Amino acid sequence: MVGVVGSSPIAPTTLCAGLRTLIVAKERHGYDTANAFGERLTILEFARGCPAKDTEKVRLVRTFVAIGERTMPDVRLPDGAVKHFDAPVTVAEVASAIGPGLAKAALAGRIDGKLVDTSFVIDRDASLAIVTDKDPEGLEVLRHSTAHLLAYAVKELFPDAQVTIGPVIEDGFYYDFSYKRPFTPEDLAAIEQRMTELAEKDEPVTRRLMPRDEAVKFFESMGEHYKAEIIASIPSNEDISLYSEGTFIDLCRGPHVPSTGKLKVFKLTKLAGAYWRGDSRNEMLQRIYGTAWAKKDDLELYLHRLEEAEKRDHRKLGRTLDLFHLQDEAPGMVFWHPKGWTIWQQVEQTMRRVYQANGYQEIKCPMILDRSLWERSGHWENYKESMFFTESEKREFAIKPMNCPGHVLVFNSDMRSYRDLPLRYGEFGSCHRNEPSGALHGVMRVRAFTQDDGHIFCSEEQIQSECTAFNRLALDVYRYFGFTDIAIKLALRPDKRLGTDETWDRAENALREALKACAVEWVELPGEGAFYGPKIEYHLKDSLGRSWQCGTMQVDYSMPAQLSAEYVAEDNTRKVPVMLHRAIVGSLERFIAILIEHYAGALPLWLSPHQVVVLTITDRQTDYARAVTDRLKSAGFRAIADLRNEKITYKIREHSLQKLPYQVILGDKELQTQQVAVRTRAGEDLGAMPLDAFIDRLQTEAASRP
Ligand SMILES: [Zn+2]
Ligand SMILES: [Zn+2]
Repeated sequence: MVGVVGSSPIAPTTLCAGLRTLIVAKERHGYDTANAFGERLTILEFARGCPAKDTEKVRLVRTFVAIGERTMPDVRLPDGAVKHFDAPVTVAEVASAIGPGLAKAALAGRIDGKLVDTSFVIDRDASLAIVTDKDPEGLEVLRHSTAHLLAYAVKELFPDAQVTIGPVIEDGFYYDFSYKRPFTPEDLAAIEQRMTELAEKDEPVTRRLMPRDEAVKFFESMGEHYKAEIIASIPSNEDISLYSEGTFIDLCRGPHVPSTGKLKVFKLTKLAGAYWRGDSRNEMLQRIYGTAWAKKDDLELYLHRLEEAEKRDHRKLGRTLDLFHLQDEAPGMVFWHPKGWTIWQQVEQTMRRVYQANGYQEIKCPMILDRSLWERSGHWENYKESMFFTESEKREFAIKPMNCPGHVLVFNSDMRSYRDLPLRYGEFGSCHRNEPSGALHGVMRVRAFTQDDGHIFCSEEQIQSECTAFNRLALDVYRYFGFTDIAIKLALRPDKRLGTDETWDRAENALREALKACAVEWVELPGEGAFYGPKIEYHLKDSLGRSWQCGTMQVDYSMPAQLSAEYVAEDNTRKVPVMLHRAIVGSLERFIAILIEHYAGALPLWLSPHQVVVLTITDRQTDYARAVTDRLKSAGFRAIADLRNEKITYKIREHSLQKLPYQVILGDKELQTQQVAVRTRAGEDLGAMPLDAFIDRLQTEAASRP
């Protein structure tokens, strides 16, 4: 900039505009304007040195003095206080001016909403929040900086490893390296040790800018071909920001902690392979996962949660409890075993009763439908990559990825009148979606799944009452399954959308009013609605504090018209109904996985595949055990008998591991008194009781819901 001004006088307005453009452009790309101050100061000095003879130059000086005045910034703090500085200050200096405690805790700053390093220079009026490890952003800066520390340590120990990318993820971070062999657990320990040493050295983390092409050459010269490739994909007119700590230099937008000494609580958690850019045709990289926290206690808590999550992993429990399996002949499709299918049936029968008690008519539509239907519904154009196809007699068919078009065809099968509305259809709709194999996860994320999928055809005036009723119902169902902590989100109009603003106003307000009527709290997500209408989402919190989106209610003005649905209105005109897509548990496969993990496999009595096991101590109780089992079965319970000639302690242990709610133990004493000795899966001994008393207890428990 200085060179430009010095060699050719530019009209002040142009210069000013140019400068502003420069600043705006840098801000837009996430780079700070720290060095813009230096430029401005130099320009100012240059202008002051100019003999102010002609008006052009006077204006020039005035312009720069005006800029100069802004270099004595007023900094507004979150509590509303304003601090004045006579000269530009860094974020770190502002923190010091507030107090030594804050100066020490400062990890970054938020200036007018934008996250910056503590070295960022404030040269004009701005609002500033000092970011510490108490802020979510502070934690993110810590994790991000720890990912750099990891790369630094790897480069020290394995100089010929190449760095690629290292993003922050939920609860931690990872970094992918190109290396000639997979890292071992011993390597992991050594890397973590080196990270601790490097953090203790408390080396400053510094930032500088470099033109793109220079940065490409720079990383190429270090043998960092992946980094060079990433930088080469950034537009050539952008400067690249580099961060150094000690001998390690990495490309990054930042911000980072001011020095490595701020990184105190971290742990490397696991190793994995990952393809470069997620493409299996590329090189397999070595991924190292880690986590970082503000306090040691937080780390301990997290590691405990991780351990719990591993114990509860539905894939593991699915195997040990013999619920289901998956195999490569049908990727992403579940083989349900008898016990798993029993759980499924409990969920399905519950949801069927929900349909029946709430004015839904259950229907069943074909799985395979002609291409022309998917073209009209828009799926062919927008969803084709995720669909499976088949053909017969030279006709092309798609295996349905969604149930909605089928429901419209049922609606269209007869002439409908306003008197028929709202018309509610429910289906246990079986769908297939061609998810990439890398995205599949147990029965949580599959290619074939079944939803409790319902569609309500109604008039616009009925949206609100339908949504109110649905919201109550959904919350009831979640409570029934044991989920009481539900976050409700309302996703509003996106930029790309169908329909007029008036229609969107009405639909969004109808949903708001519906939620208000239920006296629930919700969070609004602007821009996250579907292109055809707004939606409500239900996020369930499980016993480990994890959140799962299950239910949804979506207003759709578009599909009924696309598939020519209409009804005769009160004034005898033809109108297009509004379609409400709704599901409560969503995919039954996924919901069952959530249930298994939420309960760690110890499902409530009513959901347990086997509810009672009757155990004999010796052969003498065999007939009595058979009779007891039959009585339990005829009382409606899923009871099994274990009459094997094994030690009773062995049998008890085995069925406890199977997480069966109750064990009935029969010895000679029970046979003589015609009673049953009962034990819970938690190991509690309930003592001997008459069978009828036990059946009463079971009935009460099975019927009791939170
Ligand atoms: Zn970084
Ligand atoms: Zn639908």
